[in-house]
Amino acid sequence: MPGGAPGRDGGALRVFRIPMRTRFRGQSTREGVLIQGPAGWGEFSPFPEYGPAECARWRACAQEAAFTGWPAPLRDRVPVNAIVPAVGPEQAHAMVRRAGCGTVKVKVAERGQSFAEDLARVEAVRDALGPAGRIRVDANGAWDVGTAVTRITALGRFGLEYAEQPCATLEELAAVRRRVEVPIAADESIRRAEDPLKVRAAEAADIAVVKVQPLGGVAAALRVVEACGLPAVVSSAVETSVGLAAGVALAAALPELPYACGLGTLSLLEGDVVTDPLVPVAGTLAVRRPAVDEAALARYEMQSPAWVRRFEEALR
Ligand SMILES: [Mg+2]
Repeated sequence: MPGGAPGRDGGALRVFRIPMRTRFRGQSTREGVLIQGPAGWGEFSPFPEYGPAECARWRACAQEAAFTGWPAPLRDRVPVNAIVPAVGPEQAHAMVRRAGCGTVKVKVAERGQSFAEDLARVEAVRDALGPAGRIRVDANGAWDVGTAVTRITALGRFGLEYAEQPCATLEELAAVRRRVEVPIAADESIRRAEDPLKVRAAEAADIAVVKVQPLGGVAAALRVVEACGLPAVVSSAVETSVGLAAGVALAAALPELPYACGLGTLSLLEGDVVTDPLVPVAGTLAVRRPAVDEAALARYEMQSPAWVRRFEEALR
């Protein structure tokens, strides 16, 4: 049944819960609030551990989408990377062939796996992509400095576009960056609007991975990226097509977009709230805003006073 609690700014709050195909940040569902305003639909889907102060930026992003709208796009398609999780080489090869993307992000440093498995996976991806394809690896902060230097250097023989978050801290990233030729990207190190500037100041990375909800919306994220001065890779927080559209709007509005974005994540969710989801075709996403479909939303809508409260209590 359409409806939901009224938001403070007049739009109704619609709470969703969508099962995930694979667990993400320890969660098996993705939940959040959708809000509709005169400018369109916005998504508020902060991760469970975030308190009201952190959630304020996520809410600002949803409100911008619903009530203000976004800066004009400078391009009508946005390139995205395919994702190869910590699978074996044959499966990695098949996934890359199926995805048809020119850029692939490969998970490395998976808990319980050996470095030989990382090498075999990246080798298989290079074989499937051909010499012109771009490969980035993501260690999610798992390595210490020495391990990172050894392994990035070894993986570098397959040709890497960059290594994402090889270590956990800015100091470690900076130390690795001084010792390898492969560019370093910061992802987990960037969670708040002030973080890209810290990454830059610490000389910890060559590339900033940015997400539009934690940065407070498209216009705010544009300002942060400009102030930071590092090339940005716009990634998702694993949103529905409503939230992804904000990330696409940011990628479309950036003056320069030298790298494929991490916005091809809709397939991680079991379903969506629109009829025409933001899924990549031939490695690119069209710059557009799919509208919420009531029948699609009805499949995943729930009543949740806790989520309404979370939205209302997000400080500005
Ligand atoms: Mg990452």
